[in-house]
Amino acid sequence: MDGGAGAKRLIAVSNRLPIRIIREGRGYRCLPGAGGLVTALAPVLRDRGGLWIGWTGSPYEKGHELLLESASKETGYGLVPVPLDNEDERDYYYGFSNEIIWPLFHDLQTRCKFNPRYWYRYLSVNKKFALKVKENAKVGDYVWVHDYHLMHCGFFMKKIGLSLRVGFFLHIPFPPVDIFLKLPWRKKVLEALLHYDLLGFQTMRDKRNFLNSLSALVPGVKLKRRGAVSTVEYLGRKIRVGAFPISIDYKGFVRDCDSKEVADAAWYLHEALPDRQVIIGIDRLDYTKGIPERFFAFSDALSRFPELRGRVSLVQVVVPSRTEVPEYQELKREIERLVGEINGKFTQSGWVPIHYLFRSLDRVQLLAYYRLAEIALITPLKDGMNLVCKEYCACNLEHRGVLILSEFAGAATQLHSGALMVNPYDIEGVSKAIFTAYSMPRPERKKRMKRLRQIIKKKDIFWWVNTFLNAAFSKDLKDFPRESVEEYIPLR
Ligand code: UDP
Repeated sequence: MDGGAGAKRLIAVSNRLPIRIIREGRGYRCLPGAGGLVTALAPVLRDRGGLWIGWTGSPYEKGHELLLESASKETGYGLVPVPLDNEDERDYYYGFSNEIIWPLFHDLQTRCKFNPRYWYRYLSVNKKFALKVKENAKVGDYVWVHDYHLMHCGFFMKKIGLSLRVGFFLHIPFPPVDIFLKLPWRKKVLEALLHYDLLGFQTMRDKRNFLNSLSALVPGVKLKRRGAVSTVEYLGRKIRVGAFPISIDYKGFVRDCDSKEVADAAWYLHEALPDRQVIIGIDRLDYTKGIPERFFAFSDALSRFPELRGRVSLVQVVVPSRTEVPEYQELKREIERLVGEINGKFTQSGWVPIHYLFRSLDRVQLLAYYRLAEIALITPLKDGMNLVCKEYCACNLEHRGVLILSEFAGAATQLHSGALMVNPYDIEGVSKAIFTAYSMPRPERKKRMKRLRQIIKKKDIFWWVNTFLNAAFSKDLKDFPRESVEEYIPLR
């Protein structure tokens, strides 16, 4: 570690760097990454001369460092690659992260493959990340580690002698204790997390699940729960734990959506779907998103409410993801089978119930769909936050849209007062919500959408970064953000 006096930079650490390296001819090219986290952290990293440490997403090759050095000049902050080999990718990334933690933390434990080999590789890769931090850090830097791939990074940082302050944010849910108990390395994971100084979760429910697991599994922890603020005392360390709901660049979406290009694209798309309300679903290909369940509900709605036939079309965009994994290929087949089945059953001349797109949309197309859709059907079985629903609302400039939202999306905590809330497993309930949304009069749509947009505008992605960093640097519990105490409980 460099002793650079007075350094107070931010070092972001995540599984993936905020860039993509693609092959071009015989060489490589760097493409900038998109997404809320990059938008939010980039200015902070630039202002503080910060660094982003992560994997490039492709097997390490010698030229990558030079490539990233020149890309750093464009981003305005350092990009430091963590070289991972094919076994790392297989066992740490696909294995431990995506075949164990991802399904378990989304309450789908029967999908987990608890292979011990994955665990050991996860540890060794987390140590690689910690060593990379040590190589690049200076005294006084603040390190912010992101997400479930790197729960042990803070532990290894302390173990190799780094005494920097370090925070962690979990972007996915934290499961209830009964489910977390299934993890063979449950206690080790909890103890590792207690090496961070600040732990951030998306919602109060995730935070409470984590604290309940701590109480059940780690003897000797002392918990002080006080509303949004909790402190854990363990082996002489003090760890603060909070809920910080992540968000979007609201103003950026409003600005881009208000362009002529997007308005024209939306007009063309709607012209192709005349005299009907468009329902959109936009999801990565993932079993947590509840896409088949949504199709069952849509099909039920078409049977139960015949007046919807010819009057609504569901545009389902599925963004390819982890397509080399057999389970995801199976899900894709299931989705395509259901689209065929439902369209086969209900299609009439001039009307097709489901328009299915299996591809990534460019920004103009994405915003055009957000802008034109009268209804957004966002029904994940479980989701850390779900940004699509916030983006949909931000783009609803005319306040015409209705949001149907799963109770099990983290966003439910903030958006329940304006959305139609549903249990995604309740096919009849979702079906009825589709009809309610379809029939909702204009004034009610307007009232609800205005409320939703106000909430998202107030707590955007910049609020999220500031709130987390304020909590990280504040010395006093009373400085901890008090605004995140809301909680949505379906039965309340
Ligand atoms: N998105 C995208 N390309 C598309 C459709 C969506 O990049 O063709 C983006 C979308 O704008 C959103 C993100 O993918 O920011 C999805 O985030 P979300 O939190 O909803 O789900 P995740 O995929 O992170 O589980």
